[in-house]
Amino acid sequence: MLVYGTQYKSIPGDYVENYSCPNCGQQQCHSYAHLKSFAFYKIPTIYLGKKVNLACQHCQKHIEQKDLPKELTNKLKKSIGSTFNIVKQFTGIFVFAAFIVFALFMGEKSKETATQYINAPEINDLYIVNIRDIYNFEESARYGALKLIEVEADNYVFKIGSWTSRKATKVERHYKKTTQDFLPNTDTYTKEELLTLLNTGLIRSIER
Ligand SMILES: [Zn+2]
Repeated sequence: MLVYGTQYKSIPGDYVENYSCPNCGQQQCHSYAHLKSFAFYKIPTIYLGKKVNLACQHCQKHIEQKDLPKELTNKLKKSIGSTFNIVKQFTGIFVFAAFIVFALFMGEKSKETATQYINAPEINDLYIVNIRDIYNFEESARYGALKLIEVEADNYVFKIGSWTSRKATKVERHYKKTTQDFLPNTDTYTKEELLTLLNTGLIRSIER
């Protein structure tokens, strides 16, 4: 899948009067423009310019901007792809920006909740973690879970989940349905260590 790159979009223009097709000689050319943009996940985000072209309705030949007389090019550039048209092509950027803001907001909110849960722990709190990086599990998927089973002074004792997934949400769903799938051994963290894991992103979220 293309993550980012340039992308073209054609928009139709008007019939061009008094211009004979260089291929068939007929005056049946319609104009169109190619809007060039920098796209991110196929959503046009930065407008890079416009090229105007003609298409002959009679012989189907396409005449590129570089082969058109300068005055015609200038005239076409003004008539096709008004500001409104161009803005319309870029509504994606607004959707995209809103999505980013929403994702950041949700990220902050879940981090805030997680901080509260670390500071006031409850037995059975489920920590969704990047288990592969925490324990150097080579063959595991990235996300797994730690379940809090005991808190004594500053020691938080966890059962380590053996079920992993590439998706954090799947891990969450899995451990909400079962009390099984844990390794026989436990692991202990201090509050300070847990807050560090949260701040480095190794703890994704905490579910209660
Ligand atoms: Zn033609």
